[in-house]
Amino acid sequence: MKKVYIADSVPMAWHIKNLLESHGVSCFVKNDKLYSVAGEVPVTECMPEVWVMNSLYAKYAEGIIKQVENDCVQDHEDWTCRGCEETNFSNFGACWKCGAKIKE
Ligand SMILES: [Zn+2]
Repeated sequence: MKKVYIADSVPMAWHIKNLLESHGVSCFVKNDKLYSVAGEVPVTECMPEVWVMNSLYAKYAEGIIKQVENDCVQDHEDWTCRGCEETNFSNFGACWKCGAKIKE
């Protein structure tokens, strides 16, 4: 087994896991339960981790993950609302201030 990714959130870890499995790489998420008690445990010890079952697949898995990270950078820039010119975080689908959709 080999650790291939440390996620900054549990959903991200599961996203990576699903993606790897869709490429035929068996893997599992570690620390996705511990994350909920963050605050009592040092943060670095409860970051969710993605591990591949077979370390032979680690390089392959890392390649897939790198691709995802590149996609994230391209797709998840902060964006400026066209309605009110407020800056919105990348994960907002609509403007937090006026409610305009990102694509409108
Ligand atoms: Zn707006």
